[in-house]
Amino acid sequence: DTKTEIIAVGSELLLGQIANTNAQFISSELAEMGFNTYYHTVAGDNAERLTAAIETARSRSNVIIFTGGLGPTKDDLTKETIAANLNRRLVMDEEAMASIERYFKKIDRKMSENNRKQALVLEGSRILKNETGMAPGMAFESEGIHYILLPGPPSEMRPMFSNYARPYLLEQLGEQEQIISRVLRYFAIGESQLEAELEDLIDSQSNPTIAPLAGEGEVTLRLTCRHKEATTAVQLLNETEQKINERVGEYFYGYENTSIMQVLTDELMERKITIASAESLTGGLFSEQLTTVKGTSSVLMGGIVCYTNEMKENVLRVDPETLEKEGAVSEQCARELAENIRSIAGSDIGISFTGEAGPEPMEGHPAGTVFIGIASSEETEVHRLALAGSRDGIRKRSVKYGCRLLLK
Ligand code: ATP
Ligand code: MG
Repeated sequence: DTKTEIIAVGSELLLGQIANTNAQFISSELAEMGFNTYYHTVAGDNAERLTAAIETARSRSNVIIFTGGLGPTKDDLTKETIAANLNRRLVMDEEAMASIERYFKKIDRKMSENNRKQALVLEGSRILKNETGMAPGMAFESEGIHYILLPGPPSEMRPMFSNYARPYLLEQLGEQEQIISRVLRYFAIGESQLEAELEDLIDSQSNPTIAPLAGEGEVTLRLTCRHKEATTAVQLLNETEQKINERVGEYFYGYENTSIMQVLTDELMERKITIASAESLTGGLFSEQLTTVKGTSSVLMGGIVCYTNEMKENVLRVDPETLEKEGAVSEQCARELAENIRSIAGSDIGISFTGEAGPEPMEGHPAGTVFIGIASSEETEVHRLALAGSRDGIRKRSVKYGCRLLLK
């Protein structure tokens, strides 16, 4: 039975300057490998307190993974402290030294004496190659406990863990039960509605488990499966996913970390469709969000933020009569905005957002009244939404609804 502990070393973690994402990454990898992580420890760059942390870890864990403090400077003292504590010598590793020399040649800088320190490794350890930086990692066993040392920068630590530390652990401690998870993403369906649709599945399923999580206008389901055989676990995940999507598949838009914006961009790019936006309610949020994904320049032509009626009338050519009679928060205004931005930009589709984000009602509309217009060469559709929540939430969800409407 593995009892794994992660010790992250670095005073900047204790000062709150950086978050301990290394522990998060390693923990999720370990969980997937079927290893139990029981403790996360953080120690500052201080030999005495690090020693105390090592001794505590030794008394309760049989795999101890360190990150940070393998660099060349004085405050990097992880391996020195472990060496002293375990009575192990530090020896020069010729291969690590050669690779550090090559690195300095490549960047055309002179190597300092300090950098030699980075080639020192704990005697008798397996070297874990660092292909994106200089400090090598180490893995060894001492009195039934496995020690793994990895550098702090995530860009070095992550590949080293996946490529070298993970195989070491699996080889030393045998394959454990696999834990494989999958995230399914849904939009524009409330958490309670989704839960209601899936209630019996959620309650009756234990492998995989189904855990819903709600965000702004989105719900994600995390399926987690345990099995000795990874292929069987994947099979079970597939079956559960199919059962779920038989019920709520129309809201499904992607897996893991995909964003709605990415899905939308990919789809429009494939269909060679361009869009432009006229944004009142959302103040440019739609365009802003769309430009966060790659490939968007061939899709989004641009947008106009038309917050005041003057902008709607003078720049977006909304009929003054519409503004006077129907108001800015109206189906007709959304229609004209969408049609006019389409012709101003010369895009295939024009999308508009107008509404009341609150917190106060406006023109007799309660907060959360939103009109989204979508104009194409064939027709203009206007959707009226009644959203609840904060001002920020209403604006964000309006953008996501807009995406969903564009995807239909
Ligand atoms: P270097 O050779 O870069 O000095 P190192 O192994 O000595 O590497 P640290 O000096 O402890 O590592 O940390 C270097 C940088 O790596 C930190 O400034 C921080 O950006 C990042 N880092 C360190 N520890 C963590 C952690 N636990 N989670 C996320 N990032 C971390
Ligand atoms: Mg350092």
